[in-house]
Amino acid sequence: MIGFNKPYHTGKEIEYIQHAIQLEKLSGNGFFTHKCHAFFKKQYQFKKVLLTQSCTAALEMAAILTDVKPGDEVILPSYTFVSTANAFALRGAKLVFADSSRFHPNISIDSIKKLISKKTKVIVAVHYAGIACDMDPIMELAVKHNLLVVEDAAQAIDSFYKNRPLGSIGHLAAFSFHETKNISSGEGGMLVVNDERFEKRAEIIWEKGTNRSAFFRGEVDKYSWVDIGSSYLPSEITAAFLWAQLEKIEFIQRKRKQLWASYRDQLAVLEENGLATSPVVPDYATNNAHIFYLLTKDHQQQLDLLKHMRLNQIQAIFHYLPLHLSPFYTKDHKAKSLTHAERFGKALVRLPLYCELTQRQVKKVADAVKEFYGI
Ligand SMILES: *Cc1c(COP(=O)(O)O)cnc(C)c1O
Repeated sequence: MIGFNKPYHTGKEIEYIQHAIQLEKLSGNGFFTHKCHAFFKKQYQFKKVLLTQSCTAALEMAAILTDVKPGDEVILPSYTFVSTANAFALRGAKLVFADSSRFHPNISIDSIKKLISKKTKVIVAVHYAGIACDMDPIMELAVKHNLLVVEDAAQAIDSFYKNRPLGSIGHLAAFSFHETKNISSGEGGMLVVNDERFEKRAEIIWEKGTNRSAFFRGEVDKYSWVDIGSSYLPSEITAAFLWAQLEKIEFIQRKRKQLWASYRDQLAVLEENGLATSPVVPDYATNNAHIFYLLTKDHQQQLDLLKHMRLNQIQAIFHYLPLHLSPFYTKDHKAKSLTHAERFGKALVRLPLYCELTQRQVKKVADAVKEFYGI
């Protein structure tokens, strides 16, 4: 059986967790958290970063920082994970779902333009499969209409838009280190603050609404409750695990990119014969090999291919059910149709991809796909 995902561990995790235990400070914001923070700042020139317990937590922090209120509108893609939406729903904001582009699951710029109103406060750009949204036009719209941009960069570690690291472009960005992502600590995430107006408040929200971080730096002589917040810090055990992964990020990324490229090469024949398409990587984007997917002809073919793979002991899976069609959203909203988001929901199939997958396994998966298409 070839599973869809297998969490990778470098072998150093236990040693670093042991070290964290010996340091006798297991709560957050300690030695390993600082090491991870320093790594991200150096590697991607992020100005301010805060590790969180998940990307979901980082998105919630971002939503608090944007200060959206009931009545404010947030434009986000429908083809995304629930956390992108939940973060803003929790603030009482009105969710306005945009369509995907025709060529890629990422949000369509034309769709955003049609949805901007006087009430719009935020645009959320989700970099699906770690492939960048077209950020320049999104940032131009934000300037023109005085909006904030949050990047949901959950899948986008070590990926770039016109040579700029994803997560460094919007006002705020959120990453995930969930076990299904390229770099993982089981559960884990990070908030990136690119607009310095938000730096102080981000730290306060992170520390349960207190100015504890400033207190530890000696900037205030006592710490108190100064704002809303929650418990968003991961423990040092999580940060120690993450540090082991970050040390190996180049190896992990190289490995994943090789596997991704093998899929693309072996399955190019499907595209040449008009049978199914593989991911489009626009000129402005890099590929961080987070997901390799195929777009089938239609929903029936998606279901048939998934079944064929299952019969061949291979776990291939579909991805998001567009949120504008979800039970929670349709309960109090009129049905609307978003053609491309719906097509990606009904036709996209993800193939197994993880660091320890072998080239032989990739060939086995690719051969099973080719057999399905009779090629
Ligand atoms: C994985 C993912 C999340 C959630 O990440 P967690 O760390 O599990 O909270 C949010 N958005 C997108 C696009 C994701 O892929």
